[in-house]
Amino acid sequence: MKKFKEFIDAQETLEKRLFALVLLVGAMLTVVSALVTLTENLGIFSIITTLLCSAAMLALIYVTYFLKKPKYTPLVLCCLLSFVLVPLNFFACGGINSGMPLYMLAVLFLIVPTLKGKTRISLFVLTLITDIGMIILSYFMRDDTPNLPGLPNRILVRLDEWEQTKDVLFSLVITGSFIFLFTSLMMSAYQREREEREQLLRRVTEMSRKDYLTGLYNRRELYDFMENRGRELFAGSYYAAMFDIDHFKQINDTYGHLFGDKVLSAIAQEIGKEAHMDFNRDGDSTVSAKDPAEIAARYGGEEFFLVFRCGSPEEAHARIEGIRERVSRLNFPEMNGKPITLSAGISRCRDYTEIRQVVKAADQMLYLAKDSGRDRICTAW
Ligand code: GH3
Ligand code: MG
Ligand code: MG
Repeated sequence: MKKFKEFIDAQETLEKRLFALVLLVGAMLTVVSALVTLTENLGIFSIITTLLCSAAMLALIYVTYFLKKPKYTPLVLCCLLSFVLVPLNFFACGGINSGMPLYMLAVLFLIVPTLKGKTRISLFVLTLITDIGMIILSYFMRDDTPNLPGLPNRILVRLDEWEQTKDVLFSLVITGSFIFLFTSLMMSAYQREREEREQLLRRVTEMSRKDYLTGLYNRRELYDFMENRGRELFAGSYYAAMFDIDHFKQINDTYGHLFGDKVLSAIAQEIGKEAHMDFNRDGDSTVSAKDPAEIAARYGGEEFFLVFRCGSPEEAHARIEGIRERVSRLNFPEMNGKPITLSAGISRCRDYTEIRQVVKAADQMLYLAKDSGRDRICTAW
């Protein structure tokens, strides 16, 4: 059973998985059915036709998976079942009074997942016409009806009542199990596909929103965040801070770019920790992670941005000062205790009417901090 599941799972697409299922389950059932027919007293003709079914299924498995020529096997399988095996078995195994109508139904059912497009519709209609034709024909082959010219006056094998009961029961179990197994696996294959797709979508969405190196939001998310705040950004208690690492080029040049990346990530962590992503400053947890109260983003190479909420300009300054201090205390053994410093500029959103102006003011203050000697914060109010 484990091997069987592994084989089905190894098929690349849902269609291929379903077809493998049809072939393997179909082969299994036809072989069982042939073995059961051998124990029944239906005559040599019935035995030959059921054995023929098993042989055909095994041949199709051979062509599909051993010769690796799967292109036409779904169509061949359906045609073989609809126009050769079911008609032969219908007349050989008792006609309408046997379990054959159940097999007809199972074949009509399996055309849907096995074939595609116009072929599916055409074969369904042709199979239905063939089945109807056979059932009508079998009426004229009953002992008590006037038979049509040229037709044998009875079905090749007639079942007595006990045989008929057994046959219907057996066919019901076989076709019912087949449909159950098939639809169950179809549903779980569908569920698996859907879960994989959802997971992929989540991953792609995450990748499109976040910066790969630092894990902070990217610049597009930052602007989306500010735009989504709308009037609240300018009417509320929002502040914007822009950060830039001091002499970062030197760090790269002295210790290498990989070390530079490590420093960038560590500083990003410090800035990221300050952003209250899933609740606002008043402790109102109604704001979800998807709609955070504050945001930390990587603005460019070694520039970061924080949009945050505070009750007063002093508090805003203190929060950014806290980040600057924590960054200056970061200790990298590679640098033998030499500190890394950060400059920042802060603007108060309510002093402006456009996002562009808020960013520009924070940027100007950052440049002022750089010009005044770095490792400091300048405010625009
Ligand atoms: P200043 O104090 O004036 O800001 O000096 P600075 O050296 O930090 O400024 P500058 O803009 O000249 O240098 C920024 C450097 O940041 C240049 C670039 O190589 C580096 N950088 C940008 N992105 C990355 C990155 O993802 N990884 C690494 N390692 N370096 C980066
Ligand atoms: Mg810099
Ligand atoms: Mg820079």
